[in-house]
Amino acid sequence: MASQRRDFFKQAGLGMVGVSLLRTNAEAQQARTGKRPKNIIFMVSDGMSAGVLPLAELTSQYENKRATNWAQLLREPRAARGMFDQASLNSCVTDSAAASSSWGCGSRVNNGSINTLPDGTSLTPVGKLAKEKGLMLGLVTTTAIWDATPAGFAASVQARSMREPIAEQYRNRVDVIMGGGREAFTADKRSDKQDLVAAYRDSGYLIAPTKPELSAVKPGSKVLALFGDGPLPYSIDHVRNENDRTNIPTLAEMTAIALRSMGDAKKGFLLQVEGARIDHSAHANDAAAVIRDQLAFDAAVGVALDFARRRGDTLVVLCTDHGNSNPGLNSMGSATGGSDECLRRAMRATASFSEMAKQLGNRSDYNMDANKVSDAKATAAERVAAVVKQHHNVDLKPEHASAIARAAGGEKGIVLNAQQDTLVGVMGQVMSNHTGVGFVGTSHTADFVTSTAFGPGCEHFEGLLRNTDVFQKLTTLMGTPFKNPAADGRPITTASHIPVGEPEFWLV
Ligand SMILES: [Zn+2]
Repeated sequence: MASQRRDFFKQAGLGMVGVSLLRTNAEAQQARTGKRPKNIIFMVSDGMSAGVLPLAELTSQYENKRATNWAQLLREPRAARGMFDQASLNSCVTDSAAASSSWGCGSRVNNGSINTLPDGTSLTPVGKLAKEKGLMLGLVTTTAIWDATPAGFAASVQARSMREPIAEQYRNRVDVIMGGGREAFTADKRSDKQDLVAAYRDSGYLIAPTKPELSAVKPGSKVLALFGDGPLPYSIDHVRNENDRTNIPTLAEMTAIALRSMGDAKKGFLLQVEGARIDHSAHANDAAAVIRDQLAFDAAVGVALDFARRRGDTLVVLCTDHGNSNPGLNSMGSATGGSDECLRRAMRATASFSEMAKQLGNRSDYNMDANKVSDAKATAAERVAAVVKQHHNVDLKPEHASAIARAAGGEKGIVLNAQQDTLVGVMGQVMSNHTGVGFVGTSHTADFVTSTAFGPGCEHFEGLLRNTDVFQKLTTLMGTPFKNPAADGRPITTASHIPVGEPEFWLV
């Protein structure tokens, strides 16, 4: 064990040395130049608590002998390091709707709202301003495309659940649309029976229902690429399902396609890329799935940074919208193998909790309401132990298998923390004995969140920012500074364009 541990750190150390800080002259001229970017790539690892970055980094160092793209960027002196205060209008803990809206319109809104104030005032999203300025606009995600984070950049509705109006608002505003959530576009699933896919086709969009059709995307193509209803698969499951691999692209592949379409846009582009399932797997207290989706996000970061380094005219912002359940690797005693070996167990896992629950005839997707039993079904403890053995290769203690089985049946009172007194909560706690990764709950947290920026304009993302300032910086960098009405005490009462060149926000 001791020598294995030394190997692990030796390998990790070699990976660190392998990161070259030397860059080309062209790159050296980028960043911190005071110039405005032509293009902006805004990348959101949704629900990424601070502890997720090192979990992904340790995994990358161990498996690939190299640093993650995000960690490499953090070591570059020319990158800007910051944090966002993501509070919403009605809570110090935001949801993804209020979080994305704060960036998307510059005003704090109530949790659950998309760019709309509590009195119903509809606010102008950054994507609409980008489009009016002549930029191309893209949204790429691993969840439903109408869901909160993409919607916050391009739609305005009272409630994030209003998927059908969101899908309508994207048409002719968002040029590149890739992710899940097809149900909001098809005649058979929409309440008004409108065939939005046909409407998009008539508006000149290339329709790509599976990955192979993406090969037809050319520079300037408008794209509607929805790879199923609801979210795309967790990365840990996607990689093991041949049919999914054939038909559903990874986040990195979608990002590359979006850049192929928009990279030569005459007036530039604004692209939001969301790794959504980091949030979902954190809600599910599923450490292995969190790590795999964060690494899939990091691969997309690599695609974006390659583009930006080649070009020199592109700002890349990496961030998250809130913490979630705050996973962290604990110091683990010898009885459970020590922290390194525990983390390696998580690395070796072969299925998400969601897939494992399906095998148990259950559903373990995250459940934010701790009192809700959902569709839990009683399961034999022996069956639980067998499925966990199959996918995590650990032998559960009988009392732990029994606790999971009882939680699967909806029994309460198994643990004292009400959030974790659920199937996913009990599962997460039991598995933390083996993976070493503990969770503080099953929901979002109020933590300041990490951001890192690279390229022209990155200097404006240094330090601790209020979430709403991100909108002001994005719109000013795009050359279309704008103020929306707000309801949070700031002296803003009407929407207005701000004359270009006015230095106001730089002083905020
Ligand atoms: Zn969430």
